[in-house]
Amino acid sequence: MDQPFLVRLPMGEDLLDAVTREFENRSVRKAAFFVIGAVQGAVFGFYDPGTKKYLNREFAGDFEIVSCTGNASEKDGKTFVHAHAIFSGEDYACFGGHLMQGSRIFAAELHVVPIPGSIPVRGFDEPTGLYLWPMEGEGSGR
Ligand code: ZN
Repeated sequence: MDQPFLVRLPMGEDLLDAVTREFENRSVRKAAFFVIGAVQGAVFGFYDPGTKKYLNREFAGDFEIVSCTGNASEKDGKTFVHAHAIFSGEDYACFGGHLMQGSRIFAAELHVVPIPGSIPVRGFDEPTGLYLWPMEGEGSGR
């Protein structure tokens, strides 16, 4: 499956889980994606480089998905979705961060662009404390 595709995500499901499932169902492990739509609730992460931990913040309410973009690759032998998002509420103020589980889909349109070639595999990166792709020339994916 190397063709771009559009899919509507189901109401009531967790946004991050639903996106991940679409990749798993199609065996796509290297892609860029975009989502627009609306959700109820949000949990965003902020990675604190000092403590090397994600600080999570929960937001209650109805929100527009102003922008949600990310990628799919592989970690621990499974599809791994990394997504960042900007949401806005009734006051039109935007907020966002690293998308965590915790946003219930009201309506969402997913646009996926699969990328051919070797799949990047995430591995632990000591300096950042994150699971990152290998640098080019490090004998990356598979
Ligand atoms: Zn992130």
